[in-house]
Amino acid sequence: MRKNTVFRKYIASLLLFLLFETVAITLWKAKGNLFYLLNFSYIGGCLALGTALFTAGKRYARHFVQLAVGSYMLLYLGVISHENMQIEGFWYYLFLGVFEAATIHYAVAKIFGPLFFGRGWCGYACWTAMVLDFLPYKQPEKPRKEKLGVLRYVMFALSLTLVSGLFLMNVANLEEIMFWMFLVGNALYYIVGIVLAFIFKDNRAFCKYLCPVTVFFKPMSYFSILRVHCDESKCVHCGKCLRVCPMNVEVNKESRKRKRGTECILCYECTKVCPTKALH
Ligand code: SF4
Ligand code: SF4
Ligand code: SF4
Repeated sequence: MRKNTVFRKYIASLLLFLLFETVAITLWKAKGNLFYLLNFSYIGGCLALGTALFTAGKRYARHFVQLAVGSYMLLYLGVISHENMQIEGFWYYLFLGVFEAATIHYAVAKIFGPLFFGRGWCGYACWTAMVLDFLPYKQPEKPRKEKLGVLRYVMFALSLTLVSGLFLMNVANLEEIMFWMFLVGNALYYIVGIVLAFIFKDNRAFCKYLCPVTVFFKPMSYFSILRVHCDESKCVHCGKCLRVCPMNVEVNKESRKRKRGTECILCYECTKVCPTKALH
């Protein structure tokens, strides 16, 4: 393969790494804390390596990134360093006016980042999905229950109400409460996520119906630079991409308005099965 063809193939991984390095160096210099350089370099490095392995056709590349990034955030940042990286932690640090830990994480991965890499977080880094993706229903076996999607907004409102209530009541030891909320919240997410996966025969049922973070993801990822394109002139309407998609995206349409377009987790399973290479 010619050098420039190889370069083009891996350009997305390289740009992803450079994006995270920019964030790492900017936060390191702005906050005078080496942790930011190491943290974002590690995450960016894992994402770039994983996506490059994925591009090279390595079957377990996505699981590798999910485990490398997801378990680092869950175990090191969450359990060992006591940072609540869930949505409740985001509200907590936001109300405190502190731009650290969860607020930075949300700004980079879940609010502004999706303008560049869509819901890449959901496909490659989320510690809830890193477990759910090992369950048996990689391709949904039942049609999606569209109306249940409203539950994510209920969860979003509940998390906001819970943390603002604790603030307004001036509850003591809030830092410790947030740590326990992180542990209990994650345990519940795993239990509910696994139960829903088996009920709906769909590994990603939790993502589709309950996850509150999608309230941030959906509007931002609509404008994402990185997205799966469809050359409709090449499509023979075989429906293979639709059957294999874990998020039920109408990916055989090019328009950003395609159905459930903001649900795409950039797993690229659809591109692998397209017989005419219409998807890229
Ligand atoms: S939708 Fe929520 S649970 Fe699912 S991968 Fe994204 S952040 Fe994780
Ligand atoms: S299969 Fe394709 S459309 Fe579906 S989530 Fe993965 S990348 Fe997105
Ligand atoms: S797999 Fe390819 S050819 Fe088949 S419906 Fe999807 S885009 Fe069209």
